[in-house]
Amino acid sequence: MTWHAKDNILGLRRSFLAPSLSISYKDPLHIVQGRGQYLYDGQGREYLDGVNNIQHVGHCHPAVVKAAQEQYEKLNTNTRYLDETIVKYAQELTSQLPSDLEICYFTNSGSESNDLALRLARHYTNSKETIVFGSAYHGHTEALIEISPYKFNGPGGNGAPDFVHTIPRPDPFRGRYRGPDSARGYLSELKKIIHQLKKNGQRIGAMVAEPVMGCGGQIILPKGFLKEAIERVRHAGGLYIADEVQIGFGRMGSHFWGIETEKVVPDIITIGKSMGNGHPLSAVITTRKIADRFHNGMEYFNSFGGNPVSCAVGRAVLEVIQGENLQKQALDVGNHLSNLLAKLKERHYLIGDVRGRGLFLGVELNRDLTTLEPAAAEAEQVINKMKEKGILLSTDGPDHNVIKIKPPLVFNKENAHFLSETLDHILTHIA
Ligand code: PMP
Repeated sequence: MTWHAKDNILGLRRSFLAPSLSISYKDPLHIVQGRGQYLYDGQGREYLDGVNNIQHVGHCHPAVVKAAQEQYEKLNTNTRYLDETIVKYAQELTSQLPSDLEICYFTNSGSESNDLALRLARHYTNSKETIVFGSAYHGHTEALIEISPYKFNGPGGNGAPDFVHTIPRPDPFRGRYRGPDSARGYLSELKKIIHQLKKNGQRIGAMVAEPVMGCGGQIILPKGFLKEAIERVRHAGGLYIADEVQIGFGRMGSHFWGIETEKVVPDIITIGKSMGNGHPLSAVITTRKIADRFHNGMEYFNSFGGNPVSCAVGRAVLEVIQGENLQKQALDVGNHLSNLLAKLKERHYLIGDVRGRGLFLGVELNRDLTTLEPAAAEAEQVINKMKEKGILLSTDGPDHNVIKIKPPLVFNKENAHFLSETLDHILTHIA
């Protein structure tokens, strides 16, 4: 492919695709192939992928491709016929979860999962009142934009509907309450919300929250906050929906799920993204009691959710995570990279914070360590320069000043060195 071809694609995008789709980087990439932790552009240039968490076990993993192809050649239907693949997959998935989470609904995107989770919770509690964390993102449907401060408080957003109650972003680094003991501050905000609801004669439907925040800026919650928040929500009659769409399946390194890192058990968990390694596959998993209550005569049917090909892909992904010991790799490589980045923080004034777990890391850039003014333009510059040097990353957080690192789990220590050395060089240059 020539550069002319790249311009052509851009032109066709402008003509035929929605203008609200975004493109990464000042000079957009035309990626034509992927393998493991590497992507290749139309000119054959290799890029180290530090950001595509969806391709969890590596781009185009042969075992996943094979599983999809073999199942496609045999059969692809829907859940109205008996099929071994879906039941085996449900069994394998739930065996990775706390025992109360035993009933699966299969869907085709994280948004679909969260939408369904809201339906389950609202039906169970007979309440629409929803508590969320500031800056959180839970998906793109109408119902999810309504519970995603990242969107409703962002450009084009219309603010929160009256049934959505937001706890300020529980960010121990730059949030309303700071430091290791900041849980108390955020719990007091939750207490105010619960109190107000009670005063209005309303009850909580659900609290929806990620155990480790993604779009909110790679945030590790203040110690003990989530556990106590869930207890308070339950005490007030609400359910906890854990959104693990971005963080599950071993990425945390120390644990398979984010909920385990916070020592919590949700009433409903939603999973997706990495689950299908790029194939549209996601799920809602809940307790029998909640699922039974939802079984009120209205059928749950999903044309594609739980189809044999998707389930075969999901099973292959689980097998690869185990077979290639990828959770351990996330732990080892993630800790190694985290240490390298912490060393960079000592030398570069722009780095305000390095945080995360396993291969889910964030480097927050600030112009001033006292005011913590976000260095968004600098972060954008770093990302573009890293790309020029052959490493793909992105920025996020409400101020777009957090560099996100969430590569396929096959990312290795050599890759970690290349990333940190290149970042070191670029930050020196910027300074
Ligand atoms: N929840 C979280 C935490 C997410 O990060 C995302 C996607 N960024 C979603 C839900 C929505 O998932 P999808 O894009 O698959 O609809």
